[in-house]
Amino acid sequence: MKDVFAKKIEGLKSEGLYRFLKTVDSDQGPEISCQGKKYLNFSSNNYLGLANHPQLTDASIKATKEFGTSSGASRLITGSMTLTQELEAAIAKFKGSEAALVFNSGYHANLGIISALMGEGDTIFSDEWNHASLIDGCRLSKAPTQVYRHGDSEHLESLLKKSTSIRKLITTDSVFSMDGDLCPLPQIMKLAERYDAWVLVDEAHATGVFGKQGRGVVEHFGVDPQNPRLIQMGTFGKALGSFGAYVCGPRAMIDYLINRARTFIYTTALPPSVMAASLAAIKLIEEDFSLKEKLWENVEYFKRGLDALAVSPIIPIIIGDAQRTIDISNQLFESGIWATGIRPPTVPNGTSRIRFTIMATHTREQLDKCLTAIANCEFGIAN
Ligand SMILES: *Cc1c(COP(=O)(O)O)cnc(C)c1O
Repeated sequence: MKDVFAKKIEGLKSEGLYRFLKTVDSDQGPEISCQGKKYLNFSSNNYLGLANHPQLTDASIKATKEFGTSSGASRLITGSMTLTQELEAAIAKFKGSEAALVFNSGYHANLGIISALMGEGDTIFSDEWNHASLIDGCRLSKAPTQVYRHGDSEHLESLLKKSTSIRKLITTDSVFSMDGDLCPLPQIMKLAERYDAWVLVDEAHATGVFGKQGRGVVEHFGVDPQNPRLIQMGTFGKALGSFGAYVCGPRAMIDYLINRARTFIYTTALPPSVMAASLAAIKLIEEDFSLKEKLWENVEYFKRGLDALAVSPIIPIIIGDAQRTIDISNQLFESGIWATGIRPPTVPNGTSRIRFTIMATHTREQLDKCLTAIANCEFGIAN
């Protein structure tokens, strides 16, 4: 066995595709530490800096003291707690939908939702740049999946037009996780109406970041959250500084998922500490818009400094070659900037990139330091 995998790893290394773990020994703030050395963190999804916010950590500690460290069972056995109910009510209200269901992670949610709602006789329409969890959900469902060109609603329409399936699901990231661009949601909703399809929109990188109230790209584009074709999902682990995920939609669909989503049924429920932190995060962003405002100020500043066309806190610089991407990421690392290189299969071949993410808690000085480090490394980018 050792030989088999050693050979595979050699193969990955020769293509510049080998991955290994770097261990962080601090919290997920703008400055993180690795083996005692400090780095400016430009790779975290902790957009609002909530991952170490006292309101979240206090709520989490309080819940642990009151309810213990584990939920003890799956939700349908004894793991459904009042905290979960409160969290589901809060996220449904926040998202403007009838009901919500909490999943253990975004990955669980997408696998569970898609495989429960779709089957062999149905058809799924999936953006080619969708997150791996949506792709794997499509695979698990066994429904034929038609991949449409990234963000191309005309291509999507041509596929919908040809479909003979009665049940159709369009699925898309709302903010694409490796590019930071937005899906054309208003056009997608129109097509859903015209061709009688449902829409599953993944707001993992948008919740807490987009829309006046931070409700996501659905709010940003003024899409009716009560639209009976719309399924909103998202996670608590990014801007909300906690962990876990949710799906929002009509009550009947939520009840069906409770009965049929296997990644919901067959897993131990999230622990009290996590649910309390998520609940505290929703309360916090409902009341205080200042972090979101600060985040967008920082995004504007950083993107001006880079002369980039970014529309979200995710700002990639496309390098192309995988090995070159790693070399540049290492150069940045040596100058104290933590900006992870992203390579295939996460992104298409030949589009390896350094992906910068901006946080509300970055100071001007920290943003400047990163911009200087970028200017000083040998880029010569084909961007
Ligand atoms: C991160 C992410 C997920 C997975 O969420 P986890 O809670 O981290 O499992 C799903 N979809 C998208 C678009 C993501 O970026």
